[in-house]
Amino acid sequence: MTFAEIGLHPALLAALADCGYSQPTSVQQQAIPAALAGNDLLVSSPTGSGKTAAFVLPALNLIASEQRPQSAKAPAHSTNTLRRGRPATRRPCTPAQPRMLVLTPTRELALQVTAASDRYAVRLRQVNAVAILGGMPYAKQMELLARNPEILVATPGRLIDHLNSGKIDFSLLRVLVLDEADRMLDMGFIEDIETIVGATPTTRQTLLFSATLEGTVGELAQRMTRCALRIRVDAVADRHEPIEQRMHFVDDQAHKNRLLDFLLRDAAIGQALVFTATRRDADLLTDRLNLAGLNAAALHGDMHQGARNRTLAAMRRGQVRILVATDVAARGIDVPAITHVFNYDLPKFAEDYVHRIGRTGRAGRSGLAISLVHHGERFNVRKIERFTRQTIPVSIVAGHEPTRQASTAPRPTGKPGWNKASKAAPGRTRPGAGRSIAAA
Ligand code: AMP
Repeated sequence: MTFAEIGLHPALLAALADCGYSQPTSVQQQAIPAALAGNDLLVSSPTGSGKTAAFVLPALNLIASEQRPQSAKAPAHSTNTLRRGRPATRRPCTPAQPRMLVLTPTRELALQVTAASDRYAVRLRQVNAVAILGGMPYAKQMELLARNPEILVATPGRLIDHLNSGKIDFSLLRVLVLDEADRMLDMGFIEDIETIVGATPTTRQTLLFSATLEGTVGELAQRMTRCALRIRVDAVADRHEPIEQRMHFVDDQAHKNRLLDFLLRDAAIGQALVFTATRRDADLLTDRLNLAGLNAAALHGDMHQGARNRTLAAMRRGQVRILVATDVAARGIDVPAITHVFNYDLPKFAEDYVHRIGRTGRAGRSGLAISLVHHGERFNVRKIERFTRQTIPVSIVAGHEPTRQASTAPRPTGKPGWNKASKAAPGRTRPGAGRSIAAA
């Protein structure tokens, strides 16, 4: 099925061609026609699967279909409307009246969604998207809302402030999207979400995206959607990007640092993302990598929004080669040149593993995800393998072998997820190369 066969507006088809998208991804093939038909949707689709376009395109299609043709220009100070329901002229203190609202758990994801919406809407007249985020100066937010954007992308907390002060009016809202709903609930946004949803019209269309649709997310979905269709795109198996996975066993922290230092010197790395468990570790590791002559920057929640934006912009411009990040900060990062993801620390939850490795292999490119695993963490690896229904092959780098070999360690036989240790592929590693990072 092509985008044209789905029946999208010509202005959207042209924008998608500009983006170089030749055909819809699996989640887009399922979600776009269902949303265009007016259904509420509950979608479970992994990061990197093209889910942003899956919810932005149907909403833009609705907005485009309600726009007047190009030639029908409203005269200045006319009482005509450019779009159904939205006045052509506005009084200075009139609240913003968006047509589409996207709620996301993090600022980075919100900025990503805003940028994608602008890309897809580029050929539509007067359709723009703005992000309203915590950490952004208040005056800037007022200026953005004064533009009366068609699309509002926000983290829940900050949006509540503007709702309460009457700066936003949802009476014309057509589409509500909850992106990464499971993560928003994990972050304790449930009450804010309930308040925001309560302020939107019951006639809205609701599209909920979440890694899981069970438990509390399922209950939230039940309350907020009507006769919703369920769409599930499998975690890793259905991805449109090929991501190779490997793990290396390490004896201790010093061994882990030496191995990471060696692996990061691989010439095949375009840009790399290294995940740590804590913000403090992200800072410490960044310092160590820079001391070792590697070009690294940290990204975590203790940093001011301005510093986070600057770091991400430097990463996008290719001025930073290695980004050391925590899970929440890295969520939603879409830097196509990231070729490698390293799990310096394993994630707490198997789901986060999928989110992490989805930061590479973007937009059809291949990627490599490498996990550094202490012998005592085998159980966590098994949890990840069960979740992804994939085994992670064990790799060994000559000169950096663990003293306890993975293949000789006790492993349950006949169970999926365990395979023999294999030497790292030639060309990927250079034995003996690299200066070691000082041990922790
Ligand atoms: P998302 O899952 O929305 O974060 O998208 C992941 C990446 O896939 C982004 O870099 C998108 O620009 C890209 N993408 C989305 N849809 C398509 C498509 N149909 N063809 C090629 N790339 C796409």
